[in-house]
Amino acid sequence: MSRAEELASRLDAVRGRIARAAEAAGRRPDDVGLVVVTKFFPASDVAALHALGVREVGENRHQEAEAKAAELADLAAAGLRWHFIGGLQSNKAAAVARYADVVESVDRAKLVAPLGRGARERGAEVDVLVQVSLDPPGRDQRAGADPDDVPALADLVAAEDGLRLRGLMAVAPLGEDPAAAFARLAAVHERLLADHPGAVRLSAGMSGDLEQAVAHGATHVRVGSAILGPRPEVR
Ligand SMILES: *Cc1c(COP(=O)(O)O)cnc(C)c1O
Repeated sequence: MSRAEELASRLDAVRGRIARAAEAAGRRPDDVGLVVVTKFFPASDVAALHALGVREVGENRHQEAEAKAAELADLAAAGLRWHFIGGLQSNKAAAVARYADVVESVDRAKLVAPLGRGARERGAEVDVLVQVSLDPPGRDQRAGADPDDVPALADLVAAEDGLRLRGLMAVAPLGEDPAAAFARLAAVHERLLADHPGAVRLSAGMSGDLEQAVAHGATHVRVGSAILGPRPEVR
């Protein structure tokens, strides 16, 4: 099997899982978007996925993402959109906003001004999702804003020229039933929608838990290894 055939068959399988999960939840399969997470994999895979109809790809490391976006600049005109889904340093945020169409990992106020500046320099609006931590209180916070801090952060994003607040992103914590975590996320999203009715996106669910995320209202799932294959262990 060629790489393109392998990607095509895994992509089909994931699209099937999304469709079945949507139907099980009484939702339309088209209401759940797929962001294919291409981190650690070469630009040639991104191009192959684009040829298979993928239009949204996710990356989590700035240098790698920037290089791939530059190499595949032609595909932007053909509808390819880059999502930045990784930990963001404030000194890199402006640079990320120069190529990312969607920044999903905004989890603190310090990122907002540099992202806005990068977007304005680029002359394009950048979509922003606020990343929410679903870790139980007291657990070492990995990435994501505390749910109580989401409203203020969302207001700041919405007020920033060049940025469009589009919704929330989260990763289910390890060692917990993802359904319980996604139920908490849905409640945070409901509160956000009361203040920001346009912030309709909910990016949740990965290779291992996309069904639970779709059951709890995810509008976008981010799927890497189920399509690209296993990533190298550490890098
Ligand atoms: C890597 C990554 C994914 C994809 O994970 P898989 O388990 O490979 O599907 C999704 N979201 C984020 C934030 C990631 O870093």
